Amino acid sequence: MKTSEIRQKFLSFFESKGHQIVPSSPLVPGNDPTLLFTNAGMVQFKDVFTGKDTRPYHRATTAQRCVRAGGKHNDLENVGYTARHHTFFEMLGNFSFGDYFKRDAIAYAWTLLTEVYGLPKEKLWVTVYQEDDEAYDIWAQEIGVPRERIIRIGDNKGARYASDNFWQMADTGPCGPCSEIFYDHGPEIWGGPPGSPEEDGDRYIEIWNLVFMQFERDAQGTMHPLPKPCVDTGMGLERISAVLQHVHSNYEIDLFQSLIRAAARETGCTDLADNSLKVIADHIRACGFLVVDGVIPGNEGRGYVLRRIIRRALRHGHKLGQKGLFFHRLVADLVGQMGEAYPELAAQQARVEQVLRQEEERFGETLENGMRILESALAALPAGQALDGQTLFTLYDTYGFPLDLTADICRERSIPVDLDGFEQAMAHQREQARAAGKFKAAADLSYDGVATRFDGYDHLEGEAAVTALYVDG
Ligand code: ATP
Ligand code: MG
Ligand code: MG
Ligand code: MG
Repeated sequence: MKTSEIRQKFLSFFESKGHQIVPSSPLVPGNDPTLLFTNAGMVQFKDVFTGKDTRPYHRATTAQRCVRAGGKHNDLENVGYTARHHTFFEMLGNFSFGDYFKRDAIAYAWTLLTEVYGLPKEKLWVTVYQEDDEAYDIWAQEIGVPRERIIRIGDNKGARYASDNFWQMADTGPCGPCSEIFYDHGPEIWGGPPGSPEEDGDRYIEIWNLVFMQFERDAQGTMHPLPKPCVDTGMGLERISAVLQHVHSNYEIDLFQSLIRAAARETGCTDLADNSLKVIADHIRACGFLVVDGVIPGNEGRGYVLRRIIRRALRHGHKLGQKGLFFHRLVADLVGQMGEAYPELAAQQARVEQVLRQEEERFGETLENGMRILESALAALPAGQALDGQTLFTLYDTYGFPLDLTADICRERSIPVDLDGFEQAMAHQREQARAAGKFKAAADLSYDGVATRFDGYDHLEGEAAVTALYVDG
């Protein structure tokens, strides 16, 4: 089954169960300035869940384009490292606005997976929230999942990707337990069942999250039952496609293989398994759709996230030996794969190509020189020592290497980077600029202390808090 058929089957299934098919909303959320990008199917329905907004339907289904490359959910650093994370992906969802609840949500998911998609039941595992006996009993007694494959999950904060199976929109407001469905890709792949110490591996892959909005939390933290509980679910299209196409990695599905071949063609790379091709294939989707939805590469906020993703893609092209322009040429291939499902992409092909091309031309000049500076700094670096902050800053300031880009190159070679030193160099520059009366706005960079995870620029709270990073003049 091709990815496009899998998407269509999902929507048709829920349509046959009385759900309205609603188009994907844009990646820039129209109803929430505090959110960097649309990162889940429920985003466009936020106000419907809280009752602030109403719709002419009580059941909806969507294939929602999502980006998780900043903000609360940031999977940028996972791309190229796990088989299942993308910056851009499609989330298939069904929603109940005060209509059906746990029993039907669970039954629909199970019917779709095992009857419509025909998945073997014994490969599916489920999790429920520790205290959610109701969901546990539905899975065990009504659906008939063996108890050894139903796992209760509590506040499991240890593992990096672990969810605690309790969802909340914010500190106050609607919240409730989740139940997630996992697929076991088999013992050849490293990883353990959900809740185990090896759950971060790629063997047991989370495919579908069912959220049961059941309570409203008040400012004192007290939870009150919602008069009309709601359902919000999300299944990654690329993950279910991998399962249905009998491949382990998302990058092996039809859609990605086609983009990977296109990236190979444009970079001259002959090894289709090269990791850089996966990263480029991932990034062309995020960049293409971000431009479609009105984001332009820039030095702050969403524009800077886009710029960082484009520059990472260009650096991978450079690593494969492509010193010229190539990235914008992949837009045509992207349109070929996704233009039918997203007519807005096809309609804007020329504009997307032009925006990406401009960014390529802009960075191309400095990428080569910056790489030379970086290579010689790394060559001179004694083993075990971190790359110094001044070099990080020079690369950033003079050569347009976003900090996470340099950190990513160092990560590939297991070289730590001196983030404090970078901040000091930045602060020093800021002081000098301020003294000269040229600085526009304070840069607010922060790193979470782990060299492989860049969380700076994520503190976007309202347009006003967007970080400005450049010195005027
Ligand atoms: P994971 O634990 O694997 O990081 P998650 O718990 O963060 O996933 P949810 O927020 O529950 O994911 O989103 C619902 C579904 O969307 C997931 O079950 C998964 O199928 C899909 N999904 C989430 N993040 C990504 C991603 N970065 N790339 C592709 N699919 C994703
Ligand atoms: Mg995640
Ligand atoms: Mg998870
Ligand atoms: Mg989840």
